[in-house]
Amino acid sequence: MTTEFTQLNLHPQLIQAVTELGYTAPMPVQEAIIPLMIEGRDVIGQAQTGTGKTAAFALPILQTIQPQQQVVQALIVVPTRELALQVVEAISDYGRYRPVRVLAVYGGQPYQPQINRLRKGVDIVAGTPGRLLDLIQKHILNLAEVRTVVLDEADEMLSMGFIEDINTILSETPSTRQTALFSATLPPQIRRLADKYMCNPQAITLGGGQATVAMLDQRYCVVNQNDKLAALTRMFEVEEITSALVFARTRAGTSELANELMTRGYSAEVLNGDLSQDAREQTLQRFRENKLQVLVATDVAARGLDIEDISHVFNYDLPDDPEIYVHRVGRTGRAGKSGIAITLITPRERRNLKQIETFTRHKINPMVLPSEEDILNHRKDKLVKQMGIWLQRGRYRKEREIVEALLLEGHDAVEIAAAALKVARADEKQRPIAPVGEVVEPAARHPERRAKPARSGSSRPAVQGSVSHEAGMVRLMINMGKHQGVRPGDIVGAIASHAHIPGYTIGKISIQDKHSLVDVPEEFLPQVLAKNKEVFILKQSIQLVRA
Ligand code: AMP
Repeated sequence: MTTEFTQLNLHPQLIQAVTELGYTAPMPVQEAIIPLMIEGRDVIGQAQTGTGKTAAFALPILQTIQPQQQVVQALIVVPTRELALQVVEAISDYGRYRPVRVLAVYGGQPYQPQINRLRKGVDIVAGTPGRLLDLIQKHILNLAEVRTVVLDEADEMLSMGFIEDINTILSETPSTRQTALFSATLPPQIRRLADKYMCNPQAITLGGGQATVAMLDQRYCVVNQNDKLAALTRMFEVEEITSALVFARTRAGTSELANELMTRGYSAEVLNGDLSQDAREQTLQRFRENKLQVLVATDVAARGLDIEDISHVFNYDLPDDPEIYVHRVGRTGRAGKSGIAITLITPRERRNLKQIETFTRHKINPMVLPSEEDILNHRKDKLVKQMGIWLQRGRYRKEREIVEALLLEGHDAVEIAAAALKVARADEKQRPIAPVGEVVEPAARHPERRAKPARSGSSRPAVQGSVSHEAGMVRLMINMGKHQGVRPGDIVGAIASHAHIPGYTIGKISIQDKHSLVDVPEEFLPQVLAKNKEVFILKQSIQLVRA
């Protein structure tokens, strides 16, 4: 028997709100977390975006908020501005019948409007660590009365170097607070954070990647590296794509792909770290509104992306890490809907695919690339189907007049229809069916090589710790570390402003005694390593080199 929202001890106003939003039953993470949080327990939810985790923490918070208290009662710490806005929107939706005041705070925005709102009184604040810390240090944000703290996407915050800021923020809240931590993965640093700040937390796991991929139709197709573009365009011909997210490893890859798809008449745009925050949001908005059919993204640029109703996720490049795979494909088939995830692999990557299957405990089914004949048949069937629809509708008065005029000129009716179809199919010329070669098995070409493919940007020897394990990232070294008092935020700030790249694109940071390591997207390497001006951290000029 499925649980209903009414069985979770939620306030009728909250049940009314979620019912109006079309939620018929709680999702597994909600079923598990809501009762615990209402009881006041600390919880760790190993759950990704798309599992319904926002409602899992938002509903209990809304349930316990006491309106008109003039103090911040709940704090939600999130990695990105986008997520802060999404959380606030969700809370406003769920709290539409509760008189709560909720505010998003994030960097890159003027302080004053946020300060004004805080001065007027806010019950729930959702914000990014840097801006929260700034507001605390300016004595604008007072967390002394906070009763619940949520750390959302904690592993993202860790990889963005926010862990120290989170420590400081938590130390500003009362030790009696309730703490909820959500993270797709639980690396040791997150577990340490939980040990330090949480009281006997109850852990809820949705089975790693299993829950995410359970609903999906997952397929893979083996192609030669050089044939990937051709293979993708062939799949676009036969798949019923309403909206698709294509993941490519590098920025250059995203542009090439998007251009090819556009030439073929699909509305496609790139989402990579080159975009300014504004351009990124405009692109996302167009995608959300279905004005854009395809987004071609790098993993880094797609961080924190929450878009629903994606019919297809394509992995143009296989990610090295199974968790990244789960994260990517989890963006389709949201909220109980089924989705399709298609991965292109080279023969060498079969082994990596096996690792993903083991990790998710789900089989990824092989698929055969559509042949030229399949595509031509598919185009023909589609055309005939569309004509059938028009013939049923019968709304073509003007076109009929043209046909009648042509008949009067003495043309044969069948000839006229055939010519009309020829015109209708003219756009197919834009979409030549790209040739795809026989798949070349690695043993036949390079018997001496091992299965692991060479990764772009990692042709140097893999010195332990000096190479980023994240796809598309390159590890750099800075000649300053703990001894000089460097904090992750200093590194993000220095690199972001030097290279003119958004801070959220910067990856893992590790601060050692005398030096620090930082991952940056490979695509930004030229800007980051540009020697046009000095890079400063804590007023000291630093050296930034590849690790
Ligand atoms: P989240 O993981 O919080 O980002 O939620 C993913 C999506 O699921 C959001 O669009 C929510 O609106 C939706 N959602 C959350 N809870 C439910 C539910 N119980 N039933 C249906 N949809 C839901």
